[in-house]
Amino acid sequence: MQDHPVQNPPRPRNIAIVGTGPTGLYTLHHLLASERPLTVTLFEAAPLAGVGQPYSPDSAQVTMLANIASIEIPPLGETYLDWLHRQPVVLLQACGVDPSGLHERQFLPRLVLGAWFRDRLEHMLETARARASRGAARTGAGHRRGTGGR
Ligand SMILES: Cc1cc2nc3c(=O)[nH]c(=O)nc-3n(C[C@H](O)[C@H](O)[C@H](O)COP(=O)(O)OP(=O)(O)OC[C@H]3O[C@@H](n4cnc5c(N)ncnc54)[C@H](O)[C@@H]3O)c2cc1C
Repeated sequence: MQDHPVQNPPRPRNIAIVGTGPTGLYTLHHLLASERPLTVTLFEAAPLAGVGQPYSPDSAQVTMLANIASIEIPPLGETYLDWLHRQPVVLLQACGVDPSGLHERQFLPRLVLGAWFRDRLEHMLETARARASRGAARTGAGHRRGTGGR
């Protein structure tokens, strides 16, 4: 009988993302598309991760509009406009947004854009956790691929 060398799974590469504003979120989005085993750690100094500095309740009020519309914002799993259509009418109305008039070239409150970014972070973390558990089951060796946040 011939011996076959056992191939260890590749060791995960460790990556830190400092800041979970839009730059951090699009970096994470890109990393999630990678087939390489990765361990990603997110660091965030603000009390609320994932909203971005100008779109946070700490710095914006409902009357302050973002100057970027859905058509200009790269999707993060879904488009900003698709997410807007999924939001409860009362929530949009509370932000002064008419749910019947949503369109892709509209400028909306910064707080609403921050809420989308936050939702997208949560979605990416769920995706990463699901992949980590699938990866561990596949290797059976405890190698993890995913994210952790602070
Ligand atoms: C007042 C204002 C309004 C703006 N409005 C618009 C707009 O309408 N449209 C537009 O396209 N752009 C706008 N911008 C530009 C805006 O900076 C970018 O859209 C976007 O926020 C940049 O994303 P970012 O992730 O690079 O930075 P930020 O959004 O600033 O996110 C950086 C994150 O990193 C965290 N952080 C910083 N240092 C550390 C650390 N040492 N450790 C851990 N976490 C850290 C911060 O808490 C923050 O959450 C605006 C900028 C400002 C200042």
